[in-house]
Amino acid sequence: MDYFNYKNGRLFAEGVEVEKIAAEVGTPVYIYSKATFLEHLRKIRQAYSRLDTTICYSVKACGNINILKFMAEQGSGFDIVSGGELYRVLQAGGDPAKIVYAGVGKTDAEIIEALNATIAYFNIESEAELENLIRLAKEKGQKPKVALRVNPDVDPKTHRYTTTGKKETKFGVDIERAQKVFADYGREKSIKLCAIHIHLGSAGHTVEPYIEAIKKALTLIEKLRAEGFEIEALDIGGGYGADYITGTAPTAADYAAAIVPLLKGKNLKLILEPGASIAANAAILATRVLHLKRSGEKKFVIVDAGMNDLIRPPLYDAFHFIWPAKVSEEFVPRQRERDLQLEGTEVVDVVGPICESADFFAQDRALPPVKRGDIVAIFTAGAYGFSMSSNYNARGRAAEVLVDGEKFSVIRKRETYEDLIALERV
Ligand SMILES: *Cc1c(COP(=O)(O)O)cnc(C)c1O
Repeated sequence: MDYFNYKNGRLFAEGVEVEKIAAEVGTPVYIYSKATFLEHLRKIRQAYSRLDTTICYSVKACGNINILKFMAEQGSGFDIVSGGELYRVLQAGGDPAKIVYAGVGKTDAEIIEALNATIAYFNIESEAELENLIRLAKEKGQKPKVALRVNPDVDPKTHRYTTTGKKETKFGVDIERAQKVFADYGREKSIKLCAIHIHLGSAGHTVEPYIEAIKKALTLIEKLRAEGFEIEALDIGGGYGADYITGTAPTAADYAAAIVPLLKGKNLKLILEPGASIAANAAILATRVLHLKRSGEKKFVIVDAGMNDLIRPPLYDAFHFIWPAKVSEEFVPRQRERDLQLEGTEVVDVVGPICESADFFAQDRALPPVKRGDIVAIFTAGAYGFSMSSNYNARGRAAEVLVDGEKFSVIRKRETYEDLIALERV
């Protein structure tokens, strides 16, 4: 699943020892494995090779331009949700003809930027948004391609904050209303409404919700085609599981085994928007132990990373496997489990230095004994890690390091105090 492994009790990112990076670059630091990104991309591509497939990596999962650059070089397209992400992709040399742009609140300025870049599809989420796009496209004399995001009313049964394909979310138009949208706008001359988009939300752990949603989308596409509308593509979004715990997420091949037969012979281009399933396993957040503290019955390991660096545990109740970067042989983890109970571990909370009780990475977790100064790795931190980080508590964002085989390079410097106030005016 990734290239973060222990050799003789020491954690390596590909061919580089994590402690060496921490010593040179400081902590907290996001450490990315290029080989992991590319392996996930390759596996997805391979799994869907029997269909005409475009993989549009979801930039919001992890968008450092160095990462986007090597993804683009390997032929990846990009799923964007803002003008800022469009800018990132273009700076990284991404192909505009493989960009899809979703989001319920695109501004006029953002739409014009995307029109100027000539992206592949605007993924439109409401009639009001479509009317606005039509107005701007007319003004610019362009004819953008549009995918209608429909809400298939399928519940992937994950955290409610990451569910986007149910009826009561703000995303997409209800699938029953989609035919009306095509009736009203499908023959509009200044756009080409020619694709359907669905996205169920993040971190599904079963294939079934996709099957259900794709079947509904295909039924809709059949009806639309019967009414004379040309539908050239189906974008089935992202949200494919990543292995936060060893072996728990379906693989790309598992998803494809169920999805490809549904789409075979349907004369549809397939678009995928994987984010977490490519990026999550491709990074660790390395952090240093500052203090150990006992409070009543509880033991705390206080580390130098905080919720400003990685907010997923409090935000989504997300599980991240956490383990010291250097352990004796009996503590080398064979796999990443929710509760790895090895002889000699201690139950602790792993917490950051921020003034919030929500500033935790793990609660009541069995860890090998650690001491001040030890490096601890928070695994599977590549997706929605750095990209959701903030300056809360006036903390500079962590450095980002990319490992490629035996080499590593800083792809984003640690933010300084000067960076924190650089845009403020007195
Ligand atoms: C966030 C998002 C994705 C990626 O989701 P993952 O869970 O990271 O795979 C794909 N498509 C859209 C429209 C999104 O908003």
